[in-house]
Amino acid sequence: MKILTILGARPQFIKAATVSRAIVGHNESNKDEIREVIVHTGQHFDANMSGVFFEEMGIPSPNYNLGIASLGHGSMTGRMLEGIENIIHREKPYSVLVYGDTNSTLAGALAASKLGVPVVHVEAGLRSKNMSMPEEINRVLTDRVSSLLLCPTSIAIDNLKLEGYPFPTVGKSPQEMARIGDVMYDATLHYRERAKQTVALEKWGLIDKEFCLCTLHRAENTNNSERLDSIFKALRKISHSIPVVLPLHPRTHNLIEKFGRREWLEGLVILEPVSYLEMQRLEMGAHSILTDSGGVQKEAYFHRVPCITLRDETEWVETVQMGWNYIVGSDTDKILAAFHKVGEFTDCAQNPYGDGMAAQRVPQLICNLK
Ligand code: UDP
Repeated sequence: MKILTILGARPQFIKAATVSRAIVGHNESNKDEIREVIVHTGQHFDANMSGVFFEEMGIPSPNYNLGIASLGHGSMTGRMLEGIENIIHREKPYSVLVYGDTNSTLAGALAASKLGVPVVHVEAGLRSKNMSMPEEINRVLTDRVSSLLLCPTSIAIDNLKLEGYPFPTVGKSPQEMARIGDVMYDATLHYRERAKQTVALEKWGLIDKEFCLCTLHRAENTNNSERLDSIFKALRKISHSIPVVLPLHPRTHNLIEKFGRREWLEGLVILEPVSYLEMQRLEMGAHSILTDSGGVQKEAYFHRVPCITLRDETEWVETVQMGWNYIVGSDTDKILAAFHKVGEFTDCAQNPYGDGMAAQRVPQLICNLK
């Protein structure tokens, strides 16, 4: 049984690492062998945004690389659609596996569903309820054409039910949905010990130091110079008390250059994007994390580090409900107020993100697909 996996952006490599390993495990003990053909759309292409994850996390090398990057949403998604459609014709897969909420996700889902190939969506059912986010548009459309909706949390299942899912037909069969748990939680458990062995803290002079870790790349922040200005003002103020470490996303870097505002970064510890293991080590050692990333919000909780989210809403509402995540948006004063409250976060025993076996459920569910 052949499946086509569509990848393109950093968080997808991390999610796919656990599922690809689970597919290998499945093949060792099952007669229904799954052959995975990997398509890299090229959306993220720098060594530190792509290659390093394949090497470090042992992801099989892509069979195809479409090399489509640095374009607007329309041309990027359109060219991906065309490229993926050609590969589907050539490879004739049994199903197409897509992850998360990027343009690569949407292109994979559209190309496959229009050719009648069942789509499997890992991380289905997430909603920020903000339809002006490109990621939300990608999520909503991908879910609608997917045959198998693999949800990380019970809230994701509830979101789909509220929208009338599962629909009676997608292609020729009814849609199926399952709560499998969070594949990024699986990754955290799998790589945690290796992350502790890295010298990330030593490398950046952070050993035994209190520091804040920050990531910033979401369009709602990076495309808006007022929001960026307000966020960086807060980060610079925090850096007067403890170092603020910011592995800078290439998009954010380019937009800071475009706005001509390099002074925003003064006093901050600016790094190139770091590898997954280094990032986990930084997260584990951080006093607190400020981020607009979806994945980093969750990882902050996995490592029990308080998180301050630089967005107006989140898909990962469990982290907020459990008291580990403050949603503050871009307002300088709100960010600083949350930073000063950080010590008031309390630990909590529940884990809504599953049992660390989410990825292992994927191959069998794909085999059961009608
Ligand atoms: N990450 C990383 N290096 C970095 C920044 C982030 O490895 O310099 C990892 C992070 O630990 C998480 C994932 O990238 O696993 C999150 O991806 P990103 O923030 O790009 O996307 P999002 O989760 O918002 O979709």
